[in-house]
Amino acid sequence: MKGKDIVKLDVNDLLDLLNKALADEWLAYYQYWVGSKIVAGPMKDAVAKELAEHAGEELQHAEMLVNRIIHLEGKPLLDPRDWFKQTNCGYEVPEDPYVETLLKQNIKGERCAIEVYYKLLEFTKDKDPITAKMVLEILEDEIEHEADLQALLEDLTRAK
Ligand code: FE
Ligand code: FE
Ligand code: MG
Repeated sequence: MKGKDIVKLDVNDLLDLLNKALADEWLAYYQYWVGSKIVAGPMKDAVAKELAEHAGEELQHAEMLVNRIIHLEGKPLLDPRDWFKQTNCGYEVPEDPYVETLLKQNIKGERCAIEVYYKLLEFTKDKDPITAKMVLEILEDEIEHEADLQALLEDLTRAK
C-alpha cells in the first residue's frame, strides 16, 4: 500500500519495535489495573483513581500501536506469552500493595517507557512522520504519567 511505501525505514525493523512497545503497553495496562484494585494505605482512593486512569490510557496506547502495525501490513503480537519475550520494560509484580511501593514500581515503568518512546521518536522522525506523530502523542502521555505519580508520591511523603 502507498501508506507503507512512503515510510523511509526498514519496515520490518519498525514493526519489531512497534510490537515490543505493544508488549510493554499490555504489561503496563495490567500492572496499573491490578494495582488499582489492590492498593492499600494512606490516600489509597486517590492513588487507585490515578492508577485506573493510567490503565485506560495504556490500553489506548496499545490500540494506537496495533492500528499502526496493521496500516504497515504487519502482524500484531497474537500470543500473550510473547509479551514477556518482547517487552522492553518488563513487569513489576505488585506483591506489596502499599501505596508507596506501587507508586515507585509504576514510576520505574514510566521512566522506561519515556526512554523507549524517545528512542522510537528518534528512529522515526524525518523517515516516518505518521509513526513519529503517534509516538510523540504516546510520549507526552508517559511524561504526564510519571509526573502524576511523582506528585502523588510527594503528597504522600509530606502527609507523613
Ligand atoms: Fe503507555
Ligand atoms: Fe504510562
Ligand atoms: Mg494521570
